[in-house]
Amino acid sequence: MDSIECISYSDGNDEDEIQPHRHQHQAPGPFSSSKPHSNVVSSAGIRPTTSVHELLECPVCTNSMYPPIHQCHNGHTLCSTCKTRVQNRCPTCRQELGDIRCLALEKVAESLELPCKYCSLGCSEIFPYYSKLKHEAICNFRPYNCPYAGSECSVVGDIPYLVSHLRDDHKVDMHSGCTFNHRYVKSNPREVENATWMLTVFHCFGQSFCLHFEAFQLGMAPVYMAFLRFMGDEAEARNYSYSLEVGGNGRKLIFEGTPRSIRDSHRKVRDSHDGLIIQRNMALFFSGGDTKELKLRVTGRIWKEQQNPDGGACIPNLCN
Ligand SMILES: [Zn+2]
Ligand SMILES: [Zn+2]
Ligand SMILES: [Zn+2]
Ligand SMILES: [Zn+2]
Repeated sequence: MDSIECISYSDGNDEDEIQPHRHQHQAPGPFSSSKPHSNVVSSAGIRPTTSVHELLECPVCTNSMYPPIHQCHNGHTLCSTCKTRVQNRCPTCRQELGDIRCLALEKVAESLELPCKYCSLGCSEIFPYYSKLKHEAICNFRPYNCPYAGSECSVVGDIPYLVSHLRDDHKVDMHSGCTFNHRYVKSNPREVENATWMLTVFHCFGQSFCLHFEAFQLGMAPVYMAFLRFMGDEAEARNYSYSLEVGGNGRKLIFEGTPRSIRDSHRKVRDSHDGLIIQRNMALFFSGGDTKELKLRVTGRIWKEQQNPDGGACIPNLCN
């Protein structure tokens, strides 16, 4: 990048002039010469050339640019996020940046139709440039975030990849089967902080489920919460149900529900109280009454629901 000379195309915004900015040493591309702009962007359905696509990439952060797209006096473009960070100097030519909008490029973008960025993962949809981003945020083919709750893990991927990531990188316990029996022991439950949690992964029905166990403060009261998340989409999660049971000292609490998709963050599930919630006093009572030690025995079961043609009822908390 150090060899970039500032090539001025301030005398016009046509393709011939813009092209050399990122492809200085190449011959003009197939669409670059002698064709009017409207042909370059083409009609719906025809894939735009890479070069047009690259034009809409911010040369500073390489993200796609959305209005307002800015440019310097020499015509170097940059996105609005980068503009606020460069202290009024063009990152390309170091000239004063000013406040010039690149309307021409914004218009080019408007007329583009682009494939979803997850096309390599199976999405075949094509979108106008400005609605592409909106779709990609909810695309069913988008990768999943790592469901591990204890840290801000930024790993993303498909389910098989995340399962091995949980096992290898987070050392999460893996179990097979649709029933479980877990003991959660804590010698000094008074020390429980907001961030106490445990994750176990279960494999059954050819799917993977995350069992979360967390301690947090609910209002003034410390509570424990156990819940299940499905490693897959929400629609698929509705094909399964689970129950959790905790008890001792002749008392018992049972929760039955539908696992939430890992598309919903563990925090979101937690905050919606969609799981088995145990008040700490009750938890200590289950642990043996007078003891100061927390010893909770949580048993559970996962099962597959009968076919569910209408997709099931919507849990209020799920739909906000
Ligand atoms: Zn940028
Ligand atoms: Zn510049
Ligand atoms: Zn998509
Ligand atoms: Zn992770």
